[in-house]
Amino acid sequence: MKYSAPRGTVDILPEECEKWEKLERILRTVASNYHVKEMRTPIFEHTELFNRAVGDTSDVVTKEMYTFEDRKGRSMTLRPEGTAGIARAYVENKMYARPEKLTKVFYMGPMFRYERPQSGRQRQFHQFGVEMLGIESPYVDVECMMMAITIVKALGLKNITLHINSLGDEESRDAFRAALQDHFRPVLGELCSDCQTRFDKNPLRILDCKVDADHPSMKTAPKTIDYLTESAKAHFDKVCELLDMLEVDYVIDTNLVRGLDYYSHTVFEIISDDPKLGAGSTVGGGGRYNGLIEEIGGPSTPGVGFAFGLERLMIALGDEDEDSQGIEAYVMPLGDEAKDVAMQIVMMLRANGFSVDTDYAGRGLKGQFKSADRFKAAYSIILGEDEVKGEYVQLRDNSTKEQKQVAFEDIVKELEKGLGL
Ligand code: AMP
Repeated sequence: MKYSAPRGTVDILPEECEKWEKLERILRTVASNYHVKEMRTPIFEHTELFNRAVGDTSDVVTKEMYTFEDRKGRSMTLRPEGTAGIARAYVENKMYARPEKLTKVFYMGPMFRYERPQSGRQRQFHQFGVEMLGIESPYVDVECMMMAITIVKALGLKNITLHINSLGDEESRDAFRAALQDHFRPVLGELCSDCQTRFDKNPLRILDCKVDADHPSMKTAPKTIDYLTESAKAHFDKVCELLDMLEVDYVIDTNLVRGLDYYSHTVFEIISDDPKLGAGSTVGGGGRYNGLIEEIGGPSTPGVGFAFGLERLMIALGDEDEDSQGIEAYVMPLGDEAKDVAMQIVMMLRANGFSVDTDYAGRGLKGQFKSADRFKAAYSIILGEDEVKGEYVQLRDNSTKEQKQVAFEDIVKELEKGLGL
């Protein structure tokens, strides 16, 4: 029987992993720049956590989760997003009691959603996300947005716009929810069955509906911004003021509500018109979630965060830099006798910190030179019968094609000199 990867999953082959590593390096560098530390939580959690944290009216929870029973009959779910696990770990490990009030963490890894696979949509995909927990301040919202912008700029993406909106606090959301219900009630019968369920449970979600996106009632729907309480409005105004101060281009997008249930106050998305992604592509987004930590049993703790889909960012990174890194030396044994000595030289060079490979296929000079080429080896180290007897090698600089005899004990020194180390 032939096996294939499950639908919606992909293999990341060695050549592509180099590009992934580059992306991960950039993300880690920006994180360190913003003094944001990594946190790693389990790939699966109790299903109840996601029902609670992500919200049981969101599409992610109602339609897309990979849920299974473990051998003791407990319901487990492969994480569909990163915030719930971080929030659970924050409470369980009493991170709120740490002396530093603001906790800034990032996560990076695979997420799982049972979606219809299509370009840019997979069932196992990757996210990089940041959570800043502990302080309710527009400064922290803006710190988050700036970090997200720094990342897309570091990746070389052009034509980036920050889209922002405010959902307000609980009081604002209650008023807005009622206004939405009044607005949609007369046309409810024309909306999809999901929206009819959403109408009672979470009418905000109707604004997010892909099926009813073109229904005329969408365009005339009430706007969150008009229902903000005074303090929620002050928070949002300060966010805008700080963005102005930092000279960031942004658009107030009153239709932006974001897909997950836990958001309050500021929500944002980064949209890029870079030709690599196509006009108006969302690269990532996030927002404030002041109720979440309490919702899952912790003390009332404000939070704000964002997540990027790494597959998207990989496209952004482009292919121009596909130039993979070469090795420093390729050791080429010729004949059986040379093989043992070659292995010793390879191990000795690696122990000295060089990246080195060799031929185990027993090929002749021509085949081995082809490999040295493919591996972009800076040097070839040729080792035949005479060399083994005389305890020296032929050291060939593959860029100048100059070759010289070097005694075994001088190989390290010569390589260091040649590589400018
Ligand atoms: P969300 O957690 O839904 O706000 O998504 C954040 C980002 O993750 C999106 O902007 C996408 O780039 C990415 N993303 C979400 N779902 C998928 C998926 N099924 N496949 C690939 N990327 C995804």
